[in-house]
Amino acid sequence: MRFQDMARDDLRRRFASMKDEYEQIKARGLKLDMSRGKPGSDQLELSLEILDDVSSKSGAKASDGTDCRNYGLLDGIPECKALFAEMLDVNPDNIIICGNSSLNIMYDFIAQCMTHGSGAGPWMRQGKLKFACPVPGYDRHFTILEYFGIEMVNVPMLADGPDMDFLEELVKDSSVKGMFCVPKYSNPEGKTFSAETVRRIAAMKPAADDFRIIWDNAYCVHDLYDEGDILPDVFKECAKYGSEDRIIEVASTSKISFPGSGVSAIIASDNNIAAIKKRMFVQTIGHDKLNMLRHARYLKDLKGIKEHMKRHADILRPKFAAVLDAFEKELAGKGIAEWNSPRGGYFISLDVLDGCAKRAVELCKNAGVVLTPAGATYPYGRDPHDKNIRIAPTFPPVGELKTAVALLCLCVQIAAAEKLLEE
Ligand code: PLP
Repeated sequence: MRFQDMARDDLRRRFASMKDEYEQIKARGLKLDMSRGKPGSDQLELSLEILDDVSSKSGAKASDGTDCRNYGLLDGIPECKALFAEMLDVNPDNIIICGNSSLNIMYDFIAQCMTHGSGAGPWMRQGKLKFACPVPGYDRHFTILEYFGIEMVNVPMLADGPDMDFLEELVKDSSVKGMFCVPKYSNPEGKTFSAETVRRIAAMKPAADDFRIIWDNAYCVHDLYDEGDILPDVFKECAKYGSEDRIIEVASTSKISFPGSGVSAIIASDNNIAAIKKRMFVQTIGHDKLNMLRHARYLKDLKGIKEHMKRHADILRPKFAAVLDAFEKELAGKGIAEWNSPRGGYFISLDVLDGCAKRAVELCKNAGVVLTPAGATYPYGRDPHDKNIRIAPTFPPVGELKTAVALLCLCVQIAAAEKLLEE
């Protein structure tokens, strides 16, 4: 029954019994962390062989003869470019293989736009700057923008990507310089942009000539099921409208091999690749080629990546199921929560009753379960409805996860009952 439809006395009684249950759980002294989207240690075990692949036995020469132990090749070794090219269905000439973090690439790209611009002079000399931010979204994107003083404008996420009517209006303002987005299995909602959304993004006519979209394809091969979501090729779509320079795509092996010790890549138009290389030449003599070689040798090709990702999915599916089953059993039909059932990626997004997310997360924390802070999925940490909670089910073992989610379900209900009884 919906909490809203319960007689006040019944709700009061329910609230009291839930509080008792909460106190009992609290007394157990739990210490569980579900705050960040990290792979579990069993997932990390899957990639151990990567570490063996450039030993003296196998040699450290790339396919073009480059000795990966030495300086050289600013844009990465050919076999690693080929690997990313196949994974993302792009031309290897439009790829630069970088270091251990795509977030670092994104930060550098924005920094470069600030100081040198993206075609129409340095952004920092252009007065007020704004970015479109599909919400809920990835907190680290917002942190970069906040660091550079770029004002963030919330763009609602619909079922098939950002609200394009809203976005098309917003970009008529020439101070709107770009957008961060996660087009496949978005963080945190696990949504994938539809073909029509991708087409409209390619066809958009922003007032700013130097408008750039950071196409953060962090979860490009991270399917939980054999039939994954299909993200249309944004560069092919842009080619139809002559807007290829608009897209700066990034990806990494962080959630394929080792977060923080993987390989990342930037994918962009000929013009953008040339400009980025010019800056990178100043910035570094080259990235870690031994790690590129290890990854290329171990993963081999798209087939190798897919087989590897299936092993990840086998570990992750029961974790996603544990969360979704608990939500279905404890929260469904009560009028106090909505959630998504993603087919890939790393997160489940839970919307609780307006004004209850902070309280639910606080209750969890006080009973020993740390979640992503409420508000983190919005610019400036401000969720205007205080309702979104990002669930990161990947890191804890299934048993711990079940305990944590049971507590979360209880806290969501307590927070909702508290609010309704106050009204
Ligand atoms: N982009 C998204 C959407 C993420 O969720 C994450 C990590 O959680 C990253 C980027 C970080 O990627 P990297 O490890 O390549 O810096």
